[in-house]
Amino acid sequence: MHPNSEFQTMTTDSILLRARELDSQDPLRHFRDEFHIPLDAKGNPQVYFVGNSLGLQSKRTSQFVNEVLETWQTQGVRGHFTGDFPWMPYHEFLTAPMARLVGAMEREVVMMNSLTANLHLMLASFYRPAGRKQKILIEEHAFPSDHYAVESHIGARGLDPAATMMVVRPQGPSGCFDQSEICDLIRANAGELALVLLPGVQYYTGQVFDIERLTRVARENGVNIGFDLAHAAGNLELKLHDWGPDFAVWCSYKYLNSGPGSVGGCFVHERHVADEKLPRLAGWWGHDKASRFLMPNGFSPIPTAEGWQQSNPPILSLAAIRASLSVFDQAGGMEPLRRKSELMTGFFVDLLREQLGNKIAILTPEPCGCQLSLRVVAEDVDGKSVKQALENAGMETDWREPDVIRAAPVPLYNRFEEIARFIIALKEILE
Ligand SMILES: *Cc1c(COP(=O)(O)O)cnc(C)c1O
Repeated sequence: MHPNSEFQTMTTDSILLRARELDSQDPLRHFRDEFHIPLDAKGNPQVYFVGNSLGLQSKRTSQFVNEVLETWQTQGVRGHFTGDFPWMPYHEFLTAPMARLVGAMEREVVMMNSLTANLHLMLASFYRPAGRKQKILIEEHAFPSDHYAVESHIGARGLDPAATMMVVRPQGPSGCFDQSEICDLIRANAGELALVLLPGVQYYTGQVFDIERLTRVARENGVNIGFDLAHAAGNLELKLHDWGPDFAVWCSYKYLNSGPGSVGGCFVHERHVADEKLPRLAGWWGHDKASRFLMPNGFSPIPTAEGWQQSNPPILSLAAIRASLSVFDQAGGMEPLRRKSELMTGFFVDLLREQLGNKIAILTPEPCGCQLSLRVVAEDVDGKSVKQALENAGMETDWREPDVIRAAPVPLYNRFEEIARFIIALKEILE
């Protein structure tokens, strides 16, 4: 028997007790019942810490989606105009709840396309190289899709991507960025920068970017700035309108729980929405609603973010988003969710430090969102095998090459007790 086993059993018990106490005090605890929780190999609910990758399905999703299927079955093409939620304006039913979640005005937000497609549309409008101002600042190891999108836009304008991308490097082995350094870079290179593109939460390290501060510096220096909020929307409290970036894009299948590949979101700041002179890749769905079906050739954009729409959207996907946003609304929006999330990550970080301080390094700087990026530093242990052992124990996390385990307790459906069980399992694996 391990000499410390009695002490460790007690510790384990007290961790669980503390976690159950936190759960009993949690005003949002009942929202877990709104979700389908996947089962592990033994038939028990998984400890699902990958809501940062694919959020869970709310139980009301099938009802919202079935309503659309039924309308299609019974009404055919008339479904565009019939029922409480006709398809023609269906995306508009998402605008108010989505705008609330990201702190935007309704006219600044539209749900359409996918994240990368929206990024391309935004680059077409807001990357406007002129004279010496040609460069795009982006972080090293940005999500590859963002990197490709930027590179391809630079190439499409006849410029050399290698000379035109200003790639900021992280500080040290954690992979995190010094945001003061980014601000200094923007100031020092304002004469050459056409655009800054940064994440709200960096997908690999979980580092939170100070959108307000970075936007202020970019705008004071006459540089356009946009954000990829894939890991921030539905995770952090955002105030996009007040903070004032030129644009932002996000997906709805991570923290927004709207299903694999579901339609993404796009924010265009109010100061731009009615600017007809902005170049854009236009489509008929962005054309003035009153004359859209007169099928004119002259493009007259809707003077809101909707003016960037290209096609009539996939209603089945929008229905899943509408279901998900209704859960967020019922929970009271981002403020109470964020409060719980901060308690959860705080509890998680405290336990990791206390129980596994010499075996697990936390890459994610505080304050952070739901996600913690963990690196196994225990000697002679392979991180990937730890991730596999966690999976065998019913703990769902995700692995990012070369050596990071990402774990994200989500306030809508995770419990403090799951964090305690995760720590206990991780300790056993590493012993
Ligand atoms: C998930 C994610 C994407 C995904 O892009 P899609 O176009 O929706 O496939 C893009 N950027 C970041 C930072 C992401 O985390």
